[in-house]
Amino acid sequence: MADKREVQRQIDRISDLKSKRAYPDEFEPWRAQTERVLAQVFGETSLQVTQFRGIHYGPVIVSTSDTDAVFDNHYHRGLSEAKMLLASFIEDLDESKGGSEKNVLTCPQCKAVEVDYLELRPSGATEIQGGLHLFGGRKKNIKTLAYYRCRICNNVFSIEPVKSGENESVK
Ligand SMILES: [Zn+2]
Repeated sequence: MADKREVQRQIDRISDLKSKRAYPDEFEPWRAQTERVLAQVFGETSLQVTQFRGIHYGPVIVSTSDTDAVFDNHYHRGLSEAKMLLASFIEDLDESKGGSEKNVLTCPQCKAVEVDYLELRPSGATEIQGGLHLFGGRKKNIKTLAYYRCRICNNVFSIEPVKSGENESVK
């Protein structure tokens, strides 16, 4: 199973690739392998794979007047972009593994991160999928909340989708 370290290894290989002129033999294997690692870590159809595939290592339109220097230039720029992108993916991984408390959505009951988004609903709602009753008599301060269900303990909870970030249990 691929993980963060393998993404890091692909980043580490970039400086070597960058020290060469456009398209050394090891470039294409590196690119293919990086794509495989990202697909394993984030999923075949993930944004990360799509973004990595979208990097250009050459001119989008090739002109006959392009010199080797033009290709070198694009190649090096593409590698820089790849390096930044991969580094940001690693940050994403750090965050979702509970590194920083912020932006990690956890079940307020059992602290699991395996939560499924249900829907946006006004806080006055009295029931939600599964028939759970919420907010007995509170009718004031109705605001829109994002509802989630924990896959581990089945708890349904809501958060305010706008900043604050604090989980508010509605159990
Ligand atoms: Zn839970």
